[in-house]
Amino acid sequence: MEPIELDGSQGEGGGQILRSALSLSMITGKPFVIERIRARRARPGLLRQHITAVLAAAEISQAQLSGAELGSSTLRFQPGPVRGGEYRFAIGSAGSCTLVLQTLLPALWFADAPSRVSIRGGTHNQAAPTADFLIHSWLPLMRRMGVHDTLTLLRHGFYPAGGGEIEACIEPVGALRPLVLDAPGELVSMQARVLLAGVAGDVARRELGRLRERLGPLEGRIEALPACEGPGNVLSVERTHAGLSLLFTAIGTKGVSAEKVADQASEAVLRHARSGAAVEEYLADQLVLPMALAGGGRFSTSTLSSHLRTQCAVIGRFLGVDFTFTPMQGVVVVGVGELAG
Ligand code: ATP
Repeated sequence: MEPIELDGSQGEGGGQILRSALSLSMITGKPFVIERIRARRARPGLLRQHITAVLAAAEISQAQLSGAELGSSTLRFQPGPVRGGEYRFAIGSAGSCTLVLQTLLPALWFADAPSRVSIRGGTHNQAAPTADFLIHSWLPLMRRMGVHDTLTLLRHGFYPAGGGEIEACIEPVGALRPLVLDAPGELVSMQARVLLAGVAGDVARRELGRLRERLGPLEGRIEALPACEGPGNVLSVERTHAGLSLLFTAIGTKGVSAEKVADQASEAVLRHARSGAAVEEYLADQLVLPMALAGGGRFSTSTLSSHLRTQCAVIGRFLGVDFTFTPMQGVVVVGVGELAG
């Protein structure tokens, strides 16, 4: 079979193009070759997180591959059948465990047997879903689509130390069900949570204080982790609606004040809440692949991000599924497959 040719500089030009190609290649059995990997990133080519995703995908699908080296900008990948089983992977840096896991899960949903996968690295990273985001926001929606996985955060891992671990237990599914998320449904609760590891408690109190100035009174929980898991600080706001939970996260970073971290989180919450959309920007690009595998889906979202457009373009190359983006009263309605239009 001729490989699908992908340009890693298209659209967003980040690691998601590669990771989605790996998932879809394993599921469809279609080989691919990708050039200019992560060409739009400051450090282009394969970093440790991407290499781990590639090697893990190769292991679960007994793939033949070339170009899987640090810094490489070209990769060829030819998958075999996906085998369920016990797998352990280590990124060897604070690279995101969740992004590696999201590469493997869709393929393991269609494997021949259940799997248990453990991944070590960063669990709460900048510019990636946190383990809490997967557990509280993304996975519940996957369950509504027919997935039976459980996901456990065994140890937190923050940049730059890493050392975190997540574990997933995966049951194969016969088929996924389409999902429709037109509106968020009634807001049931809004809660804030601050994670601290080896960071002064005052940071959490300042973050919660500023968050309440911006969002009004809200329940806030401070969770102090062992200092040896840090340093790390994560502020998240969970909005639980009747039909779904949305998680807005800001990662504390050296040199950025607690107030600024709280402002990042509160601005994301307010931007989304004002839009009236069901799905926030990040969840949106993480829903389209499962929806395409289900043959259909639809949701309203606040922003049509370049991540989302790029993700749809890559999915289209493997599955030939249609996507529609319809602006409607301040939101964009994204239609997938049989629900596009
Ligand atoms: P690169 O390594 O090329 O910089 P990447 O490998 O980090 O990129 P991207 O292509 O940037 O990958 O994709 C990052 C993924 O992380 C996207 O699916 C995006 O939705 C998700 N993401 C980023 N920020 C958040 C956040 N705050 N909450 C949840 N998910 C997020």
